[in-house]
Amino acid sequence: MASTIFRVQSHKFSQDNIQTTLVCSKCDEVFSKEFPLDLEGQTIEFKCPVCGAPGEADIPYKSAEEREEFEEEVEEVEEEAGEEFEEEY
Ligand SMILES: [Zn+2]
Repeated sequence: MASTIFRVQSHKFSQDNIQTTLVCSKCDEVFSKEFPLDLEGQTIEFKCPVCGAPGEADIPYKSAEEREEFEEEVEEVEEEAGEEFEEEY
């Protein structure tokens, strides 16, 4: 392929946007970029902030794993609250 690929090295979903760490296939530099949540799962074209080469990145979907992790955290909090409740009585 002729165009530069920005490979997503890591990503994190926040409430407002998708925070990604990307690697440019042309200059090999790592940079971070934030995308709106609307762009989840889409291919986005932009220029590398390091070398200026135009390229594209595949924005990841929020994985099922990440959704489960969030649910587990909620469950843990509920369990802790339940233990405290038992101790009091
Ligand atoms: Zn670059």
